[in-house]
Amino acid sequence: MPDCLFCRIARREISSQLVFEDAEAVVFRDINPQAPTHVLIVPKRHLSRLAQAQEGDAALLGHLQMLSARVASLLGLKSFRLVANSGRGAGQSVDHLHYHLLGGRAMSWPPG
Ligand code: 5GP
Ligand code: ZN
Repeated sequence: MPDCLFCRIARREISSQLVFEDAEAVVFRDINPQAPTHVLIVPKRHLSRLAQAQEGDAALLGHLQMLSARVASLLGLKSFRLVANSGRGAGQSVDHLHYHLLGGRAMSWPPG
C-alpha cells in the first residue's frame, strides 16, 4: 500500500527507531510510548487488521507472536503485554496490522 504509514516505515521511507528487522517484519519504537518499553511488531506485507486475516496468513501471524517474545527477551523484559487493536472501536488508529509490545512497568487489568 503506497501511502500506508507503516508500509512506508517498513520501506524506510519514513524514519523510525528500529529495534529489529527480519524478512517478514520490522519492530520499531512507538512514537507515543505508553510504557517504558513500547514497540510495534509490524509485518512488512500490508494487512489492514487482525479481523481481515485469512487462513493463509496463519504462519505470518504465528511468526509475529514468536518474534514478539524474542524481542521482549532481547529488550530485557521479564514480563510484557502484547496487544492487537482490531478496528476503530478497539482503538486501532493505523490501518496496518501491528502488535503493541509493552513492558517495564506494572500493568493493570482490564485495559481501558
Ligand atoms: P493503534 O492505535 O492503531 O493500535 O496503534 C498505532 C500506534 O502507532 C500508536 O500507539 C501510535 O502512537 C503509533 N504511531 C502513529 N504514528 C506513528 C509514527 O509515525 N511513528 C511511530 N513510531 N509510531 C507511530
Ligand atoms: Zn501498510
